[in-house]
Amino acid sequence: MSENIRLDGRTCDQLRTITFEPGIAPNATGSVLVSFGNTRVICGATIEKRVPGWMNAQGVEGGWITAEYSMLPYSTHDRKQRDSSKGRVDGRTVEIQRLIGRSMRAALDLKKMPGMTLWIDCDVLQADGGTRTASITGASVAAKIAINRLLADGVLKQNPMEKSVAAVSVGVWQGLEVLDLPYVEDRDADVDFNVVMTSEGEFVEVQGTGEEATFTHAQLDRLLALAKKGIGEISTLQLAALS
Ligand code: UDP
Repeated sequence: MSENIRLDGRTCDQLRTITFEPGIAPNATGSVLVSFGNTRVICGATIEKRVPGWMNAQGVEGGWITAEYSMLPYSTHDRKQRDSSKGRVDGRTVEIQRLIGRSMRAALDLKKMPGMTLWIDCDVLQADGGTRTASITGASVAAKIAINRLLADGVLKQNPMEKSVAAVSVGVWQGLEVLDLPYVEDRDADVDFNVVMTSEGEFVEVQGTGEEATFTHAQLDRLLALAKKGIGEISTLQLAALS
């Protein structure tokens, strides 16, 4: 594979510069501003000391987690109208927030947070491809900050989050298998994957599509290996951000 052939000078298996700025939203129990290059997402984790009514009604024990995602109007090149102005939430938003929720549930043992709901709010400040994967990665850090705080305060008796989750995109762009696509690559990619994994190397979710193209089993294997390599690096960065 050629070196430095991507538009931003990265090698095919190189992540964008990933940074975490913890404590960006002090009123959240835990928060972080995560950046994957020019994609920047504010992730807040807020604890509420109650669970949805249906859990009480059905006698379901433990806690709950729910995620919301939105793109701020000025996060995109052309102003994106707020859902509240449109009067409806678009399908993409619903799909992404469900993905974030499922991913977080893979990292948390809800039985260890009885009577509590953890709200995860991901708001995209700047969108340049991979906002859902950045959201999941930041949500995991924000949740861990919140949980550490609740454990220190004695609100939680047991640690419900023994592992973290992280996510990254991979794809086939101009015939190259590439890691962590910015918008210009994502737009023209023939094959596009979003991969979510735990810090223990287990897959949580793989979303993959050939956009007007197809992919072989061998390509699928290589793309997953590329994602796994990237997520391993991201997990290390998450840990460093928390220490
Ligand atoms: N995008 C945009 N406006 C939208 C949706 C997407 O400008 O309403 C851009 C944005 O840069 C986003 C990229 O298209 O990151 C890719 O969007 P996609 O739906 O694939 O989700 P993402 O890659 O952000 O998870």
